[in-house]
Amino acid sequence: MEKILVVNAGSSSVKFRVYSVEERATLQQVISGQIDGIGVRPRLKASGTGDEKLIDRSYDPNEIPDVASAMRVAGAWLRDVQHVTFTSIGHRVVHGGPNFDRPICVDEAVLADLERYVPLAPLHQPNNLAPIRILLERFPDMPQVACFDTAFHRGHSDVADRYAIPDKLYAEGVRRYGFHGLSYEYVAERMRELMPDRAGGRIIVAHLGSGASMCAIQNGRSVESTMGFTALDGLPMGTRPGQIDPGVVLYLLSEKGMSPAAVQDFLYKECGLKGLSGISNDVRDLLQSSEPGPALALDHFVYRIGLYTGYLAASLNGLDSFVFTAGIGERSAQMRARIGEKLGWLGANIDPEANGENALRISHPSSRLGVYVIPTNEELMIAKHTLAVLSAAGSDDAVHRRTA
Ligand code: ADP
Repeated sequence: MEKILVVNAGSSSVKFRVYSVEERATLQQVISGQIDGIGVRPRLKASGTGDEKLIDRSYDPNEIPDVASAMRVAGAWLRDVQHVTFTSIGHRVVHGGPNFDRPICVDEAVLADLERYVPLAPLHQPNNLAPIRILLERFPDMPQVACFDTAFHRGHSDVADRYAIPDKLYAEGVRRYGFHGLSYEYVAERMRELMPDRAGGRIIVAHLGSGASMCAIQNGRSVESTMGFTALDGLPMGTRPGQIDPGVVLYLLSEKGMSPAAVQDFLYKECGLKGLSGISNDVRDLLQSSEPGPALALDHFVYRIGLYTGYLAASLNGLDSFVFTAGIGERSAQMRARIGEKLGWLGANIDPEANGENALRISHPSSRLGVYVIPTNEELMIAKHTLAVLSAAGSDDAVHRRTA
């Protein structure tokens, strides 16, 4: 049976999923796993259908020092222990630059193009591309599809896509790309399935995980995002500050004598909930604390989500539905209740019982604004894209030509 491997590679972890293609092109997840702690405390964990544990094994850091070795270990385990044979591979790639507005089958030329966007996402893009390069060299005939976090936002209007800077910089790629696109695309698709009468309306989706952003959607398409040129902009996140006056960056460079690399490290790893609370980037820790720092960090997070709801509602000329997704959005009734209260002026009225049960609709039937919780599934979105791209390419031959 045809099997799709989905790879989501970061700097310290490689997440993978295996899907089997069932009748009428439906996808069934058969294995879900990850190697985390790469180079520090590597650990391979995976589970099968029905969540049964298939492996939980730690490795010496020398055995898995980097993403390439993690791919080899995970690949060997899938092949030799699980006897899985893939027919195609889908990858999450954070940046598709100005040109890639949809998933694409990767060959050497496409990969070279994607490597040009490394300066636009220096912390993510190299890790996303490393597995593609390794697999392309090892299995040159294996179809690989790159799915971009930026693609869903590429239809933004010209005014939304711009910063007020000279056109020359825009032409070379300094644009408001927006990220988390695979998550938003999945949620928009689920809205069409679950509540078709709402799906065409004016929707804000709040993807609140360790990275966090919000997206304005109209007629199922992204029209605006809180993120821009990089995944640093917009909402405060676990360790990133979100929107910050560029003057602060200039201050760090000129007055504090920090190097550009040190500023980058600071902005990606030391700010956000972690920096403001002084104790943790994890909302669960902050909710449990009775100290003033964590309380301030959560207040700031909720306040900023409220501000950005106004910003995105303006891009939509109003608002019909607000959807929570990702770690915090899917699991914390307390944070949803606090955010819901901030949206009272837009007509939100959260039903405490439905909210406590993580129901699909958590707003009261009398609420003017519909408020929902829709769990995201970026990996399934990638698998669907992979199947669609390869079917559209009429690549049945390519799909069955070679297995690994
Ligand atoms: P990522 O953004 O890394 O893909 P998630 O979307 O799963 O991951 O979000 C992870 C974040 O979700 C954690 O950092 C944590 O702050 C938050 N989180 C997870 N579960 C809960 C919970 N029950 N209550 C509050 N926050 C939670």
